[in-house]
Amino acid sequence: MAVSTSAAKRLSRPGQEAVRTRGWLAAHKWLLLRRASQLTILALFLAGPWFGVWLVKGNLTSSLTLGVLPLTDPYALLQSLAAGHWPYKTALIGAAIVLAFYLLLGGRVFCSWVCPVNLITDAAAWSRRRLGLKTGKTPAEATRRWLLGATLVVSAATGSIAWEWVNPVSFFHRSLFFGWGLGWLALAAVFVYDLTVARGWCGHLCPMGAFYSLLGKTALARVTAPQRARCNDCMDCFAVCPEPQVIRPALKGSGSPVILSSDCTTCGRCVDVCGQDVFRFSHRFDQRSAS
Ligand code: SF4
Ligand code: SF4
Repeated sequence: MAVSTSAAKRLSRPGQEAVRTRGWLAAHKWLLLRRASQLTILALFLAGPWFGVWLVKGNLTSSLTLGVLPLTDPYALLQSLAAGHWPYKTALIGAAIVLAFYLLLGGRVFCSWVCPVNLITDAAAWSRRRLGLKTGKTPAEATRRWLLGATLVVSAATGSIAWEWVNPVSFFHRSLFFGWGLGWLALAAVFVYDLTVARGWCGHLCPMGAFYSLLGKTALARVTAPQRARCNDCMDCFAVCPEPQVIRPALKGSGSPVILSSDCTTCGRCVDVCGQDVFRFSHRFDQRSAS
């Protein structure tokens, strides 16, 4: 579908109507909370190596908070099991805690509220919109699931946690901890890739995203569109959403107004930018709809 020049110009700055009607702060509320969450988690990890304040030891793969709370990435644990290494009891407890958290809130909450690479892919998406770049060829949607399977096979074949060799999330941490040069190059590559291919990394390639999406299938916390009758088809929510295909069934369908796809990252950007106040955070059983 051809997009007129004025519409394309407007979609390069989505959320302007919401800013006019609700004010800048309210129209960026969930974005600001998300950035606070991502940066606080990073700061907690960095406080030890940078300032000697060891509230949290480790990284997003495996950590210990205040000396008592173990947290383990269940995807890393799965690779470890595939590699033939039986983890310590603490790692199993840590993975169970993380699993329970994301099974309840939605797996891809990790992608939008925790993962530091999201700062890079969001920056690339923002730049793409502002520069009006057309997207290059996106990989098939199933690619990240194939990559997820491949990392388990390679882990089994090599006896190592295979994804850690190339994981941009770990590169991000190592780059900040140790100023590691090659890590920055990998992160720059993710930025350039997402600048040229819309939602290329998180939406199509990252096996961590695929893993956490599987966890989110039955999650309770959801975004819903109870006021979908008010939608004026401005397309701002589609422009900012990192997984825009998840919006249409809830917004334009006649069934449930709840966004049920586990690919939704529960980022809340659609809630922020909609000038008609269509979306809300809620739960999967909330079927209220004005339409
Ligand atoms: S729900 Fe409708 S009015 Fe709201 S941002 Fe999306 S397209 Fe625009
Ligand atoms: S539907 Fe809304 S909450 Fe879900 S990923 Fe898209 S913008 Fe974020």
